[in-house]
Amino acid sequence: MGDGNVVTGARVVNNKTQEKHEISCTGVFIAIGHTPNTKVFNPWLSMDENGYIVNNPGSSKTNIDGVFVSGDAADHVYRQAVTAAGTGCMAALDAERYLAAKGLH
Ligand SMILES: Cc1cc2nc3c(=O)[nH]c(=O)nc-3n(C[C@H](O)[C@H](O)[C@H](O)COP(=O)(O)OP(=O)(O)OC[C@H]3O[C@@H](n4cnc5c(N)ncnc54)[C@H](O)[C@@H]3O)c2cc1C
Repeated sequence: MGDGNVVTGARVVNNKTQEKHEISCTGVFIAIGHTPNTKVFNPWLSMDENGYIVNNPGSSKTNIDGVFVSGDAADHVYRQAVTAAGTGCMAALDAERYLAAKGLH
């Protein structure tokens, strides 16, 4: 909720009880939850019990040859832009080396 200029509160609903109430506040941080959007890769890629794709430690390799993972899809610890970018770089290099080893680039 707002007054046209700033946030004045939030109207919330409890998904389990459907109970609604209002919280008076002057700022809001949106939390989107911690369920990784990886179902599309199930059952091919190995995942942990929470849906995070499992990579070989210290690399972006998955259980399938030539498939690499990076970012929040595989990271339940840090989940930060900078770590996602770093593992993205690892995955890009791993993919490039994979293709090169097969003479595909
Ligand atoms: C509210 C909030 C605040 C944050 N604040 C910070 C911060 O201050 N500092 C920080 O370092 N990190 C912050 N983060 C975390 C950071 O945003 C993530 O760690 C980072 O974006 C992860 O990058 P990613 O590329 O792994 O995933 P994402 O950025 O989530 O990218 C995944 C992409 O895949 C797309 N996608 C999903 N499913 C499909 C599909 N089936 N087909 C095609 N495309 C698909 C999505 O649309 C999305 O574009 C914040 C996150 C949130 C939600």
